Amino acid sequence: MPSPLSQRLAEIVGAPHVLSGAACAPYVIEGRTPELAVFPGAKEEVAAVLAMAADGGVPVTPWGGGTRMGLGAPPAHPGLVLGLGRLARLVEHEPGDLTATVEAGMTVEALQAALGRRGQWLSLDPPEASRATVGGILASNASGPRRHLYGTARDLLIGLTMVLADGTIVRGGGKVVKNVAGYDLPKLVIGSFGTLGVIVEATMKLRPRPDCDRLVIARFGTLGEAGSGVRAVMASDLVPSALELADAEVLRALDGEAGSDGAALLVGVDGLAEQVEWQCAELTRLLKDCGLRDWRLLDGEERDQAWRLLGRMAPAVFPEGSAGMSWGVLPTQVPELMERGGEIARRRGLRAALSAHAGVGMVSAALGAAGAGAQRVAETLGEWRALVNASGGHALVEWAPLAVKERISVWDTPGPAQRIMKQIKAELDPRGILNPGRFVGGI
Ligand SMILES: Cc1cc2nc3c(=O)[nH]c(=O)nc-3n(C[C@H](O)[C@H](O)[C@H](O)COP(=O)(O)OP(=O)(O)OC[C@H]3O[C@@H](n4cnc5c(N)ncnc54)[C@H](O)[C@@H]3O)c2cc1C
Repeated sequence: MPSPLSQRLAEIVGAPHVLSGAACAPYVIEGRTPELAVFPGAKEEVAAVLAMAADGGVPVTPWGGGTRMGLGAPPAHPGLVLGLGRLARLVEHEPGDLTATVEAGMTVEALQAALGRRGQWLSLDPPEASRATVGGILASNASGPRRHLYGTARDLLIGLTMVLADGTIVRGGGKVVKNVAGYDLPKLVIGSFGTLGVIVEATMKLRPRPDCDRLVIARFGTLGEAGSGVRAVMASDLVPSALELADAEVLRALDGEAGSDGAALLVGVDGLAEQVEWQCAELTRLLKDCGLRDWRLLDGEERDQAWRLLGRMAPAVFPEGSAGMSWGVLPTQVPELMERGGEIARRRGLRAALSAHAGVGMVSAALGAAGAGAQRVAETLGEWRALVNASGGHALVEWAPLAVKERISVWDTPGPAQRIMKQIKAELDPRGILNPGRFVGGI
């Protein structure tokens, strides 16, 4: 017998687009099953669903591709999953203006394929692009290795339509680059993890596809040497698209050999063929002065596969029983903090794998924690956070078993800004129905 809520939802979106009971199994969040999952087919339907949820005080979990639902504090009660998968159209592509307007549920891969037919791309390369959606990457400000050159979603977004918790549809920005009058609300929503509104449509800046795209893997005897390679590249005239640092554990996983040690630098270069050739030659010349052991140009399928792996190198080392953090630190501190992080884990009898978008100071630190016990894992993550905080950076628990999350806060403390964040949340979602309790400071 359908519940009154599911009947009312079925009237909005059509009965086949409301799931309940066992059919909700794919939408379990941190072991908690939602009451219902609902899939609207238009932004007006999203608005009607949210208005109804707000009336009844029912929590709502926006759901894109579901690739990152393990991030954040566990939900007290996931309530209603609001799936965006049916809002997946490319609304408008203006090749002459280098802009596209796209519905939030479209996957990044599908968007890139459509834009690619006109020789353009959205210069973002988040992991899991075949599942990650445009709304999800905006909500989590996800990015990949090419963030080094091209920046993040925040830099590419020029307009956004979202539905507020009470069902109001608001649009901010537009299709031209200079388009904001007043506060830049679209950028406030980026990285807010679905706590301020449900993104239904976005207008983004595009780029022409580069003629030539290369990936060089350079190996060094130690992480310190590879780190000096990073500094040399950063101080040079080179403009790589990606600058990824991998420790020995990550390198072993990359190679699929037991014997690799040392560290590696993976450098992406794109642009016109002549410029790319020059950059690759200059790169190897520079790296030779830093203790380069050997280097190789990856090509064809091997290169494509390496690019796909680059965004999630450290997490991929320990697929089972792992926990991991993302650190934001100054680029110059990356190699030393990676070394010290590895030492901390070893001292506690755990394996660690660390990789970094080195040029922008984003470190991905994974712990091989199978069978280690939640307390030891939480203490190690805590020591990592203390190390990173002492250097002026911040550390976020990206994924961990529930027993670990009960012992350490997922988010770093935002300090005095927390008061303002809570006020913004209260203004946009006064009944607290959007992803309640999952975000920074218990928002
Ligand atoms: C192994 C692995 C490694 C990763 N490593 C990185 C990394 O190094 N760097 C990085 O930046 N990212 C990383 N990611 C994240 C990745 O880029 C995600 O695929 C993407 O960020 C989320 O897209 P999604 O559609 O799956 O969102 P979901 O997982 O569905 O949702 C993510 C969050 O956004 C909210 N949300 C989703 N859609 C909307 C919407 N339309 N409106 C409002 N809120 C919404 C959800 O409620 C949730 O809080 C990694 C993911 C994986 C699986």
